[in-house]
Amino acid sequence: MKKGALVGGILFLVIGSGLASAQIATRTVALRCGGLFDGHGDSVRKNVVVVIEGDKIKEVGNAAPSGAEVIDLSHETCLPGLIDTHTHVMLNGDITAEDYDEQLLKESPEYRTIRATVNARRALEYGFTSIRDLETEGAGYADADVKKAINNGVIPGPRMQVATRALDVTGAYPLQGYAPNVMVPHGVQLVDGADSARQAVREQISHGADWIKVYSDRSYRVREDGVLDDIPTFTLEELKAIVDEAHRERHKVASHAMALNGVHNSVEAGVDSIEHGNYIAEEDLKKMEARGIFYVPTIYVGEYVAQGRAAEGAPVWVKMIQIHEDTFRRAMKAGVKIAFGTDAGGFDWKVNPAKEFSSMVKFGMTPAQALRAATVTAAELLGVQDSLGSMEVGKVADIVAVPGDPVADVSVMEKVDFVMKGGVVERRP
Ligand SMILES: [Zn+2]
Repeated sequence: MKKGALVGGILFLVIGSGLASAQIATRTVALRCGGLFDGHGDSVRKNVVVVIEGDKIKEVGNAAPSGAEVIDLSHETCLPGLIDTHTHVMLNGDITAEDYDEQLLKESPEYRTIRATVNARRALEYGFTSIRDLETEGAGYADADVKKAINNGVIPGPRMQVATRALDVTGAYPLQGYAPNVMVPHGVQLVDGADSARQAVREQISHGADWIKVYSDRSYRVREDGVLDDIPTFTLEELKAIVDEAHRERHKVASHAMALNGVHNSVEAGVDSIEHGNYIAEEDLKKMEARGIFYVPTIYVGEYVAQGRAAEGAPVWVKMIQIHEDTFRRAMKAGVKIAFGTDAGGFDWKVNPAKEFSSMVKFGMTPAQALRAATVTAAELLGVQDSLGSMEVGKVADIVAVPGDPVADVSVMEKVDFVMKGGVVERRP
């Protein structure tokens, strides 16, 4: 989903500790949590003390060791840091084609990068301590630099995996509709043919892409039998070349695939995640389950853009919501791994992406299942399950807290008021 209105920036207050790394390494902090959702179970454990030494979780127990700095979260539920596996920090809402064109035509990549630093900070403040940012929408390799600035401590933000420019074929991706003699920028790197696709994968990886993002379909319509049809972008041969090249270089592939053919080709080519997946055929769901391909449904953004896009002449976006719910329920039944992803940036970053939790529950998940999708399952998709995604001894201390019980009411996830990243407190109630 691409295509944004200009918004002003309201910064959240960030409380960085400002301690040198040597001090962090020896510091012991104890979080006195009223409740704990550890990422694995279905319930919230009452009155737990999480002890953090340096940037790691040292103990999950009942008592704070003497000498530890105690942070009182006794009216809060603590959870592992949240992971949003589908974001666009370079984008600021794209309900209509005009919103999108405005950003690519009138904002320099430098200006967009400055705005992205604000969005990255917002993500962290909302409780997302890790994100997978799935392409810059025409802002080149700027995501790799935002990631670098965060990792170097220049700006606050989540841990990032980035996809840089993304790939699509000629004629399939905005900007579109301009006179043939007018040169306009595109939101992706255009490739045609297997060799050109392989070269682009090599280029993107050499410039810092952690993931390769492909757009596998476009132009959606609902068939008479209710199936959501599309025009596949790449040939299967092209898609297979992209996946082969990425995997050969130990990188993974995320595929924007909203409908029948795009999903089918992506599954056949062996991508690692299906993004959006408004309609997925039963056979493809079975293959996704068998091959361990993740489903990142991004439900909330579909509701957010539907009315605007319908008003622009594409009512199919409204019908897609019902189809999406049916697919989501079938995917759960088929045992497909579902990871939390929002497409934030596709909607305004001032809207809290944690609204996705309520959307997932509305479509049939229990609150605990939705929470696991944003913690353990998302960590697995990102390949960081050994260090992140659950509250366990030895794991990195990325921890958030909410004022309430998210298993009883998942919408409290929109009220994260404590954020710790790598043992450093970024936000407090
Ligand atoms: Zn997206």
